[in-house]
Amino acid sequence: MDKKAALTAMDKDPDSLDKALKNWPSSDLRSKIRQDNRIKLTFGIHPRIVEMENTSKLNEWISDLEWLLKANRVVAVGECGLDNSGRKWDVEKQIKFFEKQIVIAVKRDLPLVIHCRGDERTDEICLNTLVRLLPKHFKLHRHCFNGDEMMYRKWKTSFPNCKFGISPFILNDQKYPKYRSLVCNMKLKDIVLETDAPYLHSEFEDFGSPLMIKDICEKLANIFLCSVEEIANITTKNATDVYSII
Ligand SMILES: [Zn+2]
Repeated sequence: MDKKAALTAMDKDPDSLDKALKNWPSSDLRSKIRQDNRIKLTFGIHPRIVEMENTSKLNEWISDLEWLLKANRVVAVGECGLDNSGRKWDVEKQIKFFEKQIVIAVKRDLPLVIHCRGDERTDEICLNTLVRLLPKHFKLHRHCFNGDEMMYRKWKTSFPNCKFGISPFILNDQKYPKYRSLVCNMKLKDIVLETDAPYLHSEFEDFGSPLMIKDICEKLANIFLCSVEEIANITTKNATDVYSII
């Protein structure tokens, strides 16, 4: 279901939002999307899944992951990382499966998409784990980054090839005022744009869409006082660099 169809469905039946979200995009559409060679893939075991599943199942999935990464058009390992935003937080278990995925990424020479959500301590453990296992120039995408300037500088010092995902948080100045000041202090060459659709959304929408990439681009043009084309060109180059897409 595309965004317009989902909204129409919601108009008719407001309770259908959950259904619309679950069906967005539909599996039929997803299969069609996957046929487009411009669409690249990443595979990983998300830390929230690590938290929920038992160790033997997760070990099976680690073997599956090694196999899945051999598929055409795979450009990275992830999302993987640490998340202590849920009710439970088995830090040892999350680190263990994060480490396994880092080792796989090194073996396959694929960049990592890092999901790191929680407090400063979570960020510190995440960065220390990466520093322990990766060479300094390894490519990272710190997905949906919403840390502070200090964290940004720490990550850049440890991994100069790290790119930071700027998400729809930037479209909601009132709710996230610190996010704008963080982005103002970042270098454009460190930024990639992402929507995390349908999970993240702007203050004007009930759910997200990949189309929001244009809004994020316009917002950055406004912040960095340059044209939308310039932001699009630089951030596209950053994305193709980090994922080695020719
Ligand atoms: Zn994530």
